[in-house]
Amino acid sequence: MEKLAIYPGTFDPFTNGHLDIALRSVRLFDHLIIAITTNAKKKPLFSVPERRDLILQSLPDGSKNISVEGFDGLLVNYAEKKGSSIIIRGLRAVSDFEYELQMALINRKLKPNVDTIFKMSSEEYSFLTSTAVKEIAQLGGCVDGLVPPAVKSALLEKFNKYR
Ligand code: ADP
Repeated sequence: MEKLAIYPGTFDPFTNGHLDIALRSVRLFDHLIIAITTNAKKKPLFSVPERRDLILQSLPDGSKNISVEGFDGLLVNYAEKKGSSIIIRGLRAVSDFEYELQMALINRKLKPNVDTIFKMSSEEYSFLTSTAVKEIAQLGGCVDGLVPPAVKSALLEKFNKYR
């Protein structure tokens, strides 16, 4: 049977930190679904279709074993619907731990067969968040090396519109 994992997140926008986690995770599985949450509490800068396009453009050519989808509702229900019992999450610093532990335990409570695997972020991206990237771009700073080129262009376009 195909080993399938789900990497959920807001990805508003997709950063090199997200890309690093996705590429290192897919090596462990036959297929990885990057699942974009549509019910984000914060108002996202990019729509789900925009975020999906940006992720697809950021993946290396020929990444046939990675797909990108939006989802709403409970993550564990989505995972079950997809036939996966593995959720991937990234950990940057100790500060991520408490929230991630809480989510992992809640998800396990909701569906005991669903397990969360944590991947440590690469050192160079351990400070990197989508929020920081948006702030830098909005203030006219350079996001080279922080986000894939397609995301950089999209940020420039988004913020130039409002200038
Ligand atoms: P969410 O709102 O679900 O936390 P994010 O898009 O912020 O969505 O993050 C999705 C996942 O990717 C989370 O597990 C987060 O910890 C992880 N992540 C975000 N940025 C990085 C990074 N720079 N390095 C490693 N993991 C990261």
